Amino acid sequence: MTHPIDQTLSAHAAHAAHAARAAQNVFTQIKTIDPLQQSSWQGKIFLTFDLDWAPDYVLAHVLDILEHRTIKATLFVTHRTPLLERMRANPHLELGIHPNFNPLLYGKPSMASDIPGVVDYFLDIVPEALSVRSHSLVQSSGVMETYHQKGIKFDCNHFIPYQSGLNMKPWPHWFKGLTKVPFCWEDDIHILYDRQMSPQWVSDLTAAPGLKVLNFHPVHVYLNSAVLDNYHNYRNRQPKTETEAQQFVNKEYGTRNFLLDVIAANGD
Ligand SMILES: [Zn+2]
Repeated sequence: MTHPIDQTLSAHAAHAAHAARAAQNVFTQIKTIDPLQQSSWQGKIFLTFDLDWAPDYVLAHVLDILEHRTIKATLFVTHRTPLLERMRANPHLELGIHPNFNPLLYGKPSMASDIPGVVDYFLDIVPEALSVRSHSLVQSSGVMETYHQKGIKFDCNHFIPYQSGLNMKPWPHWFKGLTKVPFCWEDDIHILYDRQMSPQWVSDLTAAPGLKVLNFHPVHVYLNSAVLDNYHNYRNRQPKTETEAQQFVNKEYGTRNFLLDVIAANGD
């Protein structure tokens, strides 16, 4: 006969194992999507992160969260950092690119003087990238053609808020082999729509039908942003150390809580 405590422990262990399996099944990477195979995305959650030149202590904070829970995710890289090695060493993380066309668009080209040059600049940092989201969501037929020519397979530049009620799915682009992957939630856009960060949105998002691609910015996870004031103050001050940065961290429910709750609600 099994001792009641053993039963509790084994039930707990079984629950933990089930939760770990569930988390590993639910969270996956953009590059695993097949637009013609609904099972490759239906019922899954795609956590994506636009790195946006975040300092290493901010990136490390997000990596700690993902690694601690063995969560699969896609990171859109903006810059070289020693942490790229840590990211590459984790098979659960996919590295894509986050090209910045703004200097070109605003007439102040810095890294390159044309679209292919900008894409090459970022592919030099992440040569293995198959997925892309442009900084500021810049896209055009020319940009798509360049992505296609350079071997990119997944473009994540369409933002369609999940509250639109549209049943979203990925679709093949007319450039064969390129798949469009719309995303339905982003931390700062949620705030810009004057929506509160709250666990209610976690359940709404989790229950929503269709493709679920969420986008976080490491800085908003780190600052636990619920409004953008703390972020603007942080950016104006540009703290160099984590100790200095701590004063800008929101203590109420915010983006970090939201991320942790999305993970917890889906199997962790
Ligand atoms: Zn960006």
